[in-house]
Amino acid sequence: MHIKLFWDYVDSSGGPDACWPWLRGHRSSGYGAVNLRTGRGVPLRGFAASRVAWALANDRDPCSMDRTEHVLHRCDNPPCCNPAHLYLGTHSENMADMVAKGRQGRRQRGEERPAHKLTEADVLAARAAYRAGDSTPVLAARYGVGQAAMYNAITGKTWAFLPGAVKAMRSSTQHLHGH
Ligand SMILES: [Zn+2]
Repeated sequence: MHIKLFWDYVDSSGGPDACWPWLRGHRSSGYGAVNLRTGRGVPLRGFAASRVAWALANDRDPCSMDRTEHVLHRCDNPPCCNPAHLYLGTHSENMADMVAKGRQGRRQRGEERPAHKLTEADVLAARAAYRAGDSTPVLAARYGVGQAAMYNAITGKTWAFLPGAVKAMRSSTQHLHGH
């Protein structure tokens, strides 16, 4: 699209203090993505929508912005294009900001993962109970998770950062015979 149309695709209906989400495409990172033509005869180029929003609000040409100029969000809302929520920082500030907000793209671990069922305390208790003789199916039922999830938690395939993982599992036959 032409850069003049940019604000047509930003939802500013929430008012000056609200987040203004980009209404078109998004990158997997959640940032708004837009292909822009900034002038006659200038080829289309892809931008993060928030970068274009900051540039327009600050009288800059997004094409001439330096790679080291990073547009950051005060609101931690990647699609937001409200210039009041955006500020310019360096790459290191950007990285520090992402780390601070836990958004640096690594897999979240343990309880930070939104779909967890086990807690750290559950995993520690389950590992101890397994060592004391409880079986994986019994523990899976006790903590309301599948047997594979419980097996992975006990053996440290998941929750590897917690102590007490059991490296060598009993086979169920051994377990039945009391070894
Ligand atoms: Zn915002």
